[in-house]
Amino acid sequence: MKIEEVQSQTKKQRIATHTHIKGLGLEPNGKAMPLAAGFVGQAAAREAAGLVVDMIRQKKMAGRALLLAGPPGTGKTAIALGISQDLGSKVPFCPMVGSEVYSSEVKKTEVLMENFRRAIGLRIKENKEVTELSPEETESVTGGYGKSISHVIIGLKTVKGTKQLKLDPTIYDALIKEKVAVGDVIYIEGNSGAVKRVGRSDAFATEFDLEAEEYVPLPKGEVHKKKEIVQVVNRYIDEGVAELVPGVLFIDEVHMLDMECFSYLNRALESSLSPIVIFATNRGIYNVASVYWLPTVINVRLLGGGLGTMDTPLVCPMTSWTPGDMFWHVHPDVGTDMTSPHGIPVDLLDRLVIMRTETYGPAEMIQILAIRAQVEELVVDEESLAYLGEIGQQASLRFTLRFRHAVQLLSPASVVAKMNGRDNICKADLEEVGTLYLDAKSSARLLQEQQDRELCAAGAVVRTFGY
Ligand code: ATP
Repeated sequence: MKIEEVQSQTKKQRIATHTHIKGLGLEPNGKAMPLAAGFVGQAAAREAAGLVVDMIRQKKMAGRALLLAGPPGTGKTAIALGISQDLGSKVPFCPMVGSEVYSSEVKKTEVLMENFRRAIGLRIKENKEVTELSPEETESVTGGYGKSISHVIIGLKTVKGTKQLKLDPTIYDALIKEKVAVGDVIYIEGNSGAVKRVGRSDAFATEFDLEAEEYVPLPKGEVHKKKEIVQVVNRYIDEGVAELVPGVLFIDEVHMLDMECFSYLNRALESSLSPIVIFATNRGIYNVASVYWLPTVINVRLLGGGLGTMDTPLVCPMTSWTPGDMFWHVHPDVGTDMTSPHGIPVDLLDRLVIMRTETYGPAEMIQILAIRAQVEELVVDEESLAYLGEIGQQASLRFTLRFRHAVQLLSPASVVAKMNGRDNICKADLEEVGTLYLDAKSSARLLQEQQDRELCAAGAVVRTFGY
């Protein structure tokens, strides 16, 4: 039987923009330091988040949820990550984005359930990672990989630690040879003792901290196998071998969820095994979403005209369409009639603790830009930083979007600097890339001016950003 290596679906990309965040940067008395752990300003929200960390540690947060609300780019995701860093690698942290629930293959509530499950850690109390499983359990944990497997190791503490598990020396040697790492899912064939690394657990511990030794992430299992995995875990718990540890589930862009998801969340939060849920949104009073998939037939010969009449973004690769193809068309902006603060129904909103993040002043923006430049190993002179700060501040209402834009200009400017034979970014490089790329607001303004020329995209962009 061919066993293929399964790639982990870690969300490294998303985390990469926050690599400078090492925690909330609080003093022991809970006060926010002006610049610490990569964090600048945003003192009130950081201090409030610090209290949440304390409550989680004291197990006083179970079943509660937190909402981080504030304009784009004001550090909501950064604060959620800061919370997870301060909690340490022993508490699972599972990040997701609201729109992840929309898939034509998996039900919305299944996706949420999967993430809830990932945010719960399984702490193995003794060295019991290697467990004799019944054939059915093996089947469920391995997601169908071979029935001849007698042992399953779900994540390893350390390869060295496995020696104390009194493993057969051949298996131990094979594990060393395979160069297995913490979080790897290993199967050992019963008859031959051969070791196969067939994937990595997708749970938190492996995403953020491969050294999360005490945590053995739950195996990822196929959706239809979930019931059986729960049985295996329940057996561990009944036998006192393991205990469940509620971690943190972070749902960014929560306004993208719809009524079905919100009613699921209401119920899930009441479960005794609920993780601590942190939501984030940059929307104010907003329509509660009611997302549905609309089957649409498109005739490619009429693509130009056809698209012109549709005012939602089409992201499918058009080249792969043939005339008469039917595709599913998602309408994320079709809301219910109900408007609500942050696009969250009031009954869920009522049970949330809400923390606000505020927009930054020029000095804070420049400090954040300087930190990002340092992390990305870019040399930026003071004049350029001040210039970026100015870009970030331009436009009164939505200047946080401009701040994002300013951060994004750093990398292309470094390429331009290199092309001009320099290692350091100067103002001229930024001016040059500034003429090449538009920020969201300028783009939306342009689209409004040229509405009749760019029919398809105009509605989409204008709507997405709420201009
Ligand atoms: P959105 O509403 O668009 O999701 P957000 O509020 O989640 O935005 P982030 O993504 O956390 O904003 O912040 C944008 C960038 O600025 C990130 O790289 C983040 O790490 C950084 N950043 C934001 N606030 C701070 C801060 N106070 N200190 C240091 N870095 C920050």
